[in-house]
Amino acid sequence: ADGLPHVDLFDLRSRLSAEERSRLETIEAHLETHVRQQAIEPWNREEFVPELLPGLGALGLGQIFTDGSSTLFQGLTHAAIARHDLSLSALVGIHNELNVGTIEHLGSEAQRQRWLPAMKRLESLGAFCLTEPEHGSDIAGGLETSATLDNGEWVIRGTKRWIGAGTLADVALVWARDTADDAIKCFLVPTDTPGYRATKISNKIGLRIMQNADIVFDDVRLPEDALLPGATSFEAANELLRASRAWVGWQAVGAQQGLLEILRRYALSRQQFGRPLAKLQLIQQAIAHIAGNLAASIGMMTEVNRLQEEGRLEMLHAAMAKATTTRLGRESAALGRDAMGGNGIVSDFEMAKMMNDLEAIYTYEGTYGINQLIVARGLTGVSAFV
Ligand code: FAD
Repeated sequence: ADGLPHVDLFDLRSRLSAEERSRLETIEAHLETHVRQQAIEPWNREEFVPELLPGLGALGLGQIFTDGSSTLFQGLTHAAIARHDLSLSALVGIHNELNVGTIEHLGSEAQRQRWLPAMKRLESLGAFCLTEPEHGSDIAGGLETSATLDNGEWVIRGTKRWIGAGTLADVALVWARDTADDAIKCFLVPTDTPGYRATKISNKIGLRIMQNADIVFDDVRLPEDALLPGATSFEAANELLRASRAWVGWQAVGAQQGLLEILRRYALSRQQFGRPLAKLQLIQQAIAHIAGNLAASIGMMTEVNRLQEEGRLEMLHAAMAKATTTRLGRESAALGRDAMGGNGIVSDFEMAKMMNDLEAIYTYEGTYGINQLIVARGLTGVSAFV
């Protein structure tokens, strides 16, 4: 906003190299010009916008963490995308952390060469298929999708639910239980393989541009080398989830930056009782409360970032950051929505869109409750899961 402080409240960007700072500014300018306002209509219509991908790909957003950039740059970039649109932020984040990330870290050289070049340009999408209709929070123990080696071919059988980009992806990364040794393993399934059927989940109240799918794997037959050599236990999935939970914390930072901007703009322009809302003490309190939540989220993510750089990030930290920042984000959105009166519940004014999107990120990558249980298990040594 004109002449007003940047929502990067502690000026974290000053810690970036000049080159990364300028790259971040280019990304932010693109998102402001081509994404923020343009995302409202597709969000209302629940439509994906493939035309947005080439621009994001050209900015390098298909390969954020494999391009040698600092982890702080990666976090601030994720926050920047979230500030402008949480659906696209979900798409880009899952793409980097869970799709490119899985193949990069756990795939073979041949798998990397086949799939990653187009994915890193965002010309091709993946779909990370872990959750099932009957198993969400208890997926580690409950996973039912099966993989059976039959005459040199894997046969995948089962159903998945909630899968981001399931109807758009070229390749699905499918976690299934090997019927021979009961271990959970990951397989690369080209989505044009016979037996792969994805159906869009309609009527989501949040992340409406991001498409999620129910997927059926009906005796999908794959060559033996479809197995990712590094993905032969649930631990492998858990490692990826640790990093991606930290990413969600940056999403919550970006979302709160966005809603602070939305409220500030609105409160300065809307008049009641002959003065701008921004002059009313209760509205100032809402703004300050949101800023405090945002500052707490930034502070937490800065420390998470430090641990990541030192290679010391544990699941406890990632789960705490994910749960706490999304809880604060949800509270911030409720305050912002109230402070915008009736217009606060109309998506065109952006606040309602952000509020509903925050509901979804509060739940994915482990619900608030499950992440709390992970934190308390870490602190007490006692698990309350079962
Ligand atoms: P449930 O597990 O049924 O939980 C219901 C409630 O019970 C929650 O409040 C939970 O906290 C609580 N609960 C469960 N167990 C316990 C317990 N032991 N103690 C106390 N409370 C408990 N998955 C993918 O694999 N790939 C994706 O790309 C993907 N994208 C998603 C996108 C969106 C928008 C959403 C909403 C979900 C996505 N998911 C994805 C799935 C997501 O990870 C799950 O929704 C999440 O893990 C919760 O599982 P569930 O929905 O089955 O809820």
